[in-house]
Amino acid sequence: MASEVFMTDMSANWNRSVPAKLFDLFNALEPSAVFDSKDLIAIKIHFGEAGNTAHIRPQFIRKIVEAIRSIGARPFLTDTNTLYVGSRTEAWSHLNTAYDNGFTRDVTGAPILIADGLRGSNSIEVPLENSRHLKLAHVASDIQQADGLVVISHFKGHELSGFGGAIKNVGMGCASRSGKLDQHSNISPVVKQKKCVGCGECVHWCRGAAIELIQHEKTKKAKINSEKCIGCAECILTCRRGAISIQWNESIPVFMEKMFEYAKAVLKNKSGKALFLNFLTDVSPLCDCTPFSDRSIVPSIGILASKDMVAIDSASANLVNSAPGNAMSCLKSALEPGADKFRALFPDIDWNHQIEYAEQLGLGSRDFELKLIP
Ligand code: SF4
Ligand code: SF4
Repeated sequence: MASEVFMTDMSANWNRSVPAKLFDLFNALEPSAVFDSKDLIAIKIHFGEAGNTAHIRPQFIRKIVEAIRSIGARPFLTDTNTLYVGSRTEAWSHLNTAYDNGFTRDVTGAPILIADGLRGSNSIEVPLENSRHLKLAHVASDIQQADGLVVISHFKGHELSGFGGAIKNVGMGCASRSGKLDQHSNISPVVKQKKCVGCGECVHWCRGAAIELIQHEKTKKAKINSEKCIGCAECILTCRRGAISIQWNESIPVFMEKMFEYAKAVLKNKSGKALFLNFLTDVSPLCDCTPFSDRSIVPSIGILASKDMVAIDSASANLVNSAPGNAMSCLKSALEPGADKFRALFPDIDWNHQIEYAEQLGLGSRDFELKLIP
């Protein structure tokens, strides 16, 4: 059966602004029937890496916060720390990046909690049944413990999954650092001997007691025992020399499938308590994790809202591919409406697999009925 996906476009006039339309769009999902007064509601967003400008504007987030507060629930903005080393690697720099990008309490009306804590190690294990790859998932604690979830995603291209939308925001974005490592790799991190100065910091922080210092010519160097490694990913953050790196060895289809299994785990205790919004604005070729934003691949299309995570991503991909492409060298073959922009950007990645496997896992339906909110 087709799932409802509501949509408003980006047109505005003196009497009707886009934030006002967004408020009505969100209320079309009847949040007062989904959330209870006093519920703690995690609003999962991506604050954008330092230097990124395509992330969702914080002024838009304020309208969602207002709508949630109007029913007496208690919203907070949240994201998790990144696996790679960047401006959102741990909560201190993550919060500062969020503030620098405009996500302050004054602008959005809600406080921020980094859901997996200071160093990205606060998670709750959620068992998974009938999944192809994983038996349990490490879900960021504050998202797992929230009463409800509003997932606000910037829809754009993604180098590993073709596009990044709601499913990716839930599956990867709500996992703790060890959960992200689970999805990206099936082997332990590795020490780059040339960069290691033998300081021993990683030995101190390793939760699996898997690292030791070994004499290497005149100095000591760290060595990871993969038999003991529990995949917590703590060492990647700990090493200030950048000497410990992830072995990104998972194949793309398996990476995607693990990501959807994570999405299933995240939503396990949020049945009927999760809402999704996708912003088809500034549709950049790459993820907001990049410290820059390239030109949009299509003109800004609008904002979608649904109770179905798969339907909203299916509708979003359809709308982007139906739009005329902006002239960019990477899109030469996909400028016409109807051409597959994501396949043109990433020829080896079958983004359809996102929709297919997510549907198989029972996360939603690819069939959607688009309803316009003027
Ligand atoms: S923290 Fe980095 S530099 Fe220090 S011992 Fe470990 S790998 Fe080497
Ligand atoms: S991933 Fe965790 S357990 Fe494995 S070596 Fe790094 S700190 Fe130790």
